[in-house]
Amino acid sequence: MEIIKQIPEIRAALRLLRADFKSISLIPTMGALHRGHLELIRQAKAESDVVVVSIYVNPTQFNNPLDLEKYPRDLPSDLKLLESEGVDFVFVPDDKIMYPSPMSIAFTFFGLDEILEGAYRPGHFNGVAVVVSKLFHIIAPDLAYFGQKDLQQVSVVRQLVRDLNFDVKIIVVPTVREADGLALSSRNQRLNPNQREQAPILYSSLIFAKTELLRGVPWFEVHEIVKANFKTASAVDLEYLQLVDVEGFVLAKERDPKIKQALCIAAYLGDVRLIDNLMLTD
Ligand code: AMP
Repeated sequence: MEIIKQIPEIRAALRLLRADFKSISLIPTMGALHRGHLELIRQAKAESDVVVVSIYVNPTQFNNPLDLEKYPRDLPSDLKLLESEGVDFVFVPDDKIMYPSPMSIAFTFFGLDEILEGAYRPGHFNGVAVVVSKLFHIIAPDLAYFGQKDLQQVSVVRQLVRDLNFDVKIIVVPTVREADGLALSSRNQRLNPNQREQAPILYSSLIFAKTELLRGVPWFEVHEIVKANFKTASAVDLEYLQLVDVEGFVLAKERDPKIKQALCIAAYLGDVRLIDNLMLTD
């Protein structure tokens, strides 16, 4: 496994492999790796010749400075994990390499970045789009792997690829969960025992809401019940629970069995913000 920090170096290494007709996959991460990340890596290994994992805590996608400061970082343990997974390259740039000067362009997604994560984390998707574009230009992967855990991010990345003609296939991997349903996230490390115990309410609320919607209960009523239920979890503050049409990623007012819909949720446990989502049908 090669660990590379500099852009020209990783470009040179990949250029040789590409000339040899090797397919290259990229898994962008912010490190503090867990089984969710490993699932993306395993799928990439099975589907491509060369696997590149990037580890970079991208400051431009953090709207909250405290979240950026407290974001878990553990490069030595990440590298050990990646080595044992048989990853070929780890790209670990720093801020000077990724942002030698302040960005002079910004992305707007006309709607997509105005709801849910876009609304509650202003500038977040601009930061995501900037760093993903940079990584796609640097690595030029044939395949790039993203988790369904960040469903809205998947829509943003797909839009980016379509609008800017990136020559990359986007592959989405289902959310990996703990036994009690909590979606794995690097931020889970920051939960205290009481918060950790109450955190599965995000997933159980999604399951409850899905069941109710599928048996015909109106969305407004389901939403009210879930909101009331959150009041019983003292360590968890619901930020939003919304029904969305996955195509185009717009808020939905009601269940529509003819289209692909999902439930998206965000909540605070102390200063730790967690998100999750669930498709209404497969
Ligand atoms: P992050 O390091 O949190 O930026 O995540 C890197 C990639 O891993 C993103 O595409 C995430 O959606 C994905 N990911 C994070 N958590 C999970 C999970 N529990 N299951 C599947 N994919 C995940």
